[in-house]
Amino acid sequence: MSSKIRILSEDLIGKIAAGEVVERPASVVKELIENSIDAGATSIHCDIKAGGMESIRVVDNGCGMSREDAPLATERYATSKVKNEEDLYAIQTLGFRGEALPSIASISKMRLITRDGTSQVGIEVYREAGREVRVCDVGSPVGTSVEVRNLFYNTPVRRRFLKSVKTEFFHIHKVVDQMALSKPTIQFRLVHDGREILNVPKTDDPSIRIEAILGRDTYEALTPVEFRDETISLMGYIGVPMLTLSTAKSIFTYVKGRFVRDRTVNRSILDAYRTLIPRDRYPISILFIDLSPHRIDVNVHPTKREIRFRDQKKVYRAIHLALQSQLKAGPADARISRAIETYWQKKGVHGEIREETGEYGRAGGEEGGRNRLFPEFFREAQPGGFYSSLFPLGQIGATYIVCQGPQGLVIIDQHAAHERVLFEKLKHQLGNAAVVRQVLLFPHVMELSPAEEHIVGLYKDELEKLGMEIEAFGGTTFAVRSVPQVVAGENIESLVKDIIGDLASEDRSPRGEAMTERIFTIMACHGAMRGNRALRDEEMQTLLSDLEKIDFASTCPHGRPIFSEIDYPHLDKLFKRK
Ligand code: ADP
Ligand code: MG
Repeated sequence: MSSKIRILSEDLIGKIAAGEVVERPASVVKELIENSIDAGATSIHCDIKAGGMESIRVVDNGCGMSREDAPLATERYATSKVKNEEDLYAIQTLGFRGEALPSIASISKMRLITRDGTSQVGIEVYREAGREVRVCDVGSPVGTSVEVRNLFYNTPVRRRFLKSVKTEFFHIHKVVDQMALSKPTIQFRLVHDGREILNVPKTDDPSIRIEAILGRDTYEALTPVEFRDETISLMGYIGVPMLTLSTAKSIFTYVKGRFVRDRTVNRSILDAYRTLIPRDRYPISILFIDLSPHRIDVNVHPTKREIRFRDQKKVYRAIHLALQSQLKAGPADARISRAIETYWQKKGVHGEIREETGEYGRAGGEEGGRNRLFPEFFREAQPGGFYSSLFPLGQIGATYIVCQGPQGLVIIDQHAAHERVLFEKLKHQLGNAAVVRQVLLFPHVMELSPAEEHIVGLYKDELEKLGMEIEAFGGTTFAVRSVPQVVAGENIESLVKDIIGDLASEDRSPRGEAMTERIFTIMACHGAMRGNRALRDEEMQTLLSDLEKIDFASTCPHGRPIFSEIDYPHLDKLFKRK
């Protein structure tokens, strides 16, 4: 009998481990930057050649390594960050397994040059496929430089899985952006094939870094969020509902400074935006979550991209609360203030919005300037909200209300606006006591298909709570006895069919708040004034003051925008005014 089981060679073990940590060049960049951050660097430079497939060099000005430590760093399971099991459950650093450098070294040619503050000269450690080829003294500033050449050269199969230079560099760029966003106090520089792609100076102000990475337009559409209790603290920025993307790429979540993708977090963010943006769109969100290291397990995924929260519900709630309380504000004053500021600053006037008076003026407040700079209508815009600052001029296409606003022209989609008003009204009624219903004088009798009947059966009780009573009337016939007041007088048959259709449209039947909101969305849509309807002045005025009173007044419950602005700078440009 021959034996079949054998122990893998060290070489193969190394390659298998490397496969887990290093998916592609971007994984190398991520691990090296994490090490630099852990080493306390204030400046990190990444020099990439051919999408990282030719070479990756990361140079930092961190603490460096001693002459004894440097050769050890590339040995497996060698780390300075964890000493015992206890430490593993209270990790404060980005690295902890001692796996990255040896893994990378085993599938590349790696040159590590480092010097710590106490050594006179630096040391160079050069390895090929993990084997130590050379260790020698070199001149080096304090800090560390790791150069990785010919990644995957000894694992040809993995090498073949690499994509184009462009794609691989795209992933590297993304990783550097993710890191740079969360560490404003570190300078990051990224060079690809000799071209400088990113160079952001260090700053104490996270918002400056966000603007540098995401661009001015995105930055201007962000509002700050915050939450804090005994166990969790959260701060960050989220985008206005009008600004959405087709992918989740602008959702940046950091837990204790570590970029992660987490289902609970994403669910909570998307739920907070649920009726504010279209179902297939994603918001912008940059969240920094901090909680005691004992409340998370970071040791669940080879690339450390995923973590486990001890109390997912708490995390969900914290995010939800923080986001909702900000999103509620709709087109908030903060946004208006900032836009006004930008407007004047573009005209070369630097000042600030005064909290007491709501006026815009030069910092320091030298007299004379203020009122001249601040036209009448700006003052009227505050302290009231956005909608009360609008003056309706009329209607176009019997569909859009045209207004003068503090910053220029504002156009309102009357149907979307009314939809949001009714939706919030329904939610408010349900929260207070019950949806105000109207009992029909003559029940509306209608036919349902077996599939529709099934849905009505599933949701009968819920529908009743939401103001809609449907009863079996014999055979395939059903009778609608009452409907919410906001839809009274509308076509009941099509309302019921739309609700049933929506509830049946997904594999998993929606429940709880998500279900309520979906039904309310349809009711609001049916109850709302149509586009293509002429409005009297009072009706326009009522709609504006209703919008002023409600929360979430920037999009309709399907996520379409309620208003659009053409501001004065834009108008000036249209007419080629200087
Ligand atoms: P880990 O980060 O999990 O500890 P690594 O293999 O990434 O494992 O690094 C091994 C060790 O090498 C680290 O614990 C650290 O002591 C040292 N090291 C790696 N990179 C640097 C760096 N840029 N500056 C200083 N020390 C470093
Ligand atoms: Mg590491």
